[in-house]
Amino acid sequence: MNLLERVVAIGRRRSPWVCRLNAGSCNGCDIEITPLLSPRYDAEQVGVQLHGTPKHADIVLISGTLTLRSRRAILDLYAQVPAPKAVVALGSCPASGNVFADSPLVLGESLDTVVPVDVWVPGCPPRPQAILDGILRAARLLEEGATRSQQGESVS
Ligand code: SF4
Repeated sequence: MNLLERVVAIGRRRSPWVCRLNAGSCNGCDIEITPLLSPRYDAEQVGVQLHGTPKHADIVLISGTLTLRSRRAILDLYAQVPAPKAVVALGSCPASGNVFADSPLVLGESLDTVVPVDVWVPGCPPRPQAILDGILRAARLLEEGATRSQQGESVS
């Protein structure tokens, strides 16, 4: 990594831009993202910004269980995020389907079978501090060139 790439990598770690996707969540995880932007947790103080478009994002936050309809949306969104990128999965649902696992509309697969997940944030729902920690861990992986997409892993 040359000096310019190093400076860019540090800048990305210190100011990660985040977009989010609800893949089939009960909204419990998503509601915990909102306090991150409040003065109490103040994610912007550590450089984290939430953005509406994946084309400006470094990190994708995905909540909810994988459904028949959301699989395509996840792949579309992931494709729009420019490299390098990281994926953070929020809560128990992306890992296991959680309480929705037996629904006929739920695929019953881990999010990891669709996109390469870099950080799992456990909980139902996870606390805002845990979500912020997950974002910052993903930002650190990005700086180190250690996200799964940076290691050459592709989507399904
Ligand atoms: S992990 Fe819990 S709070 Fe989050 S979407 Fe699933 S059921 Fe809802």
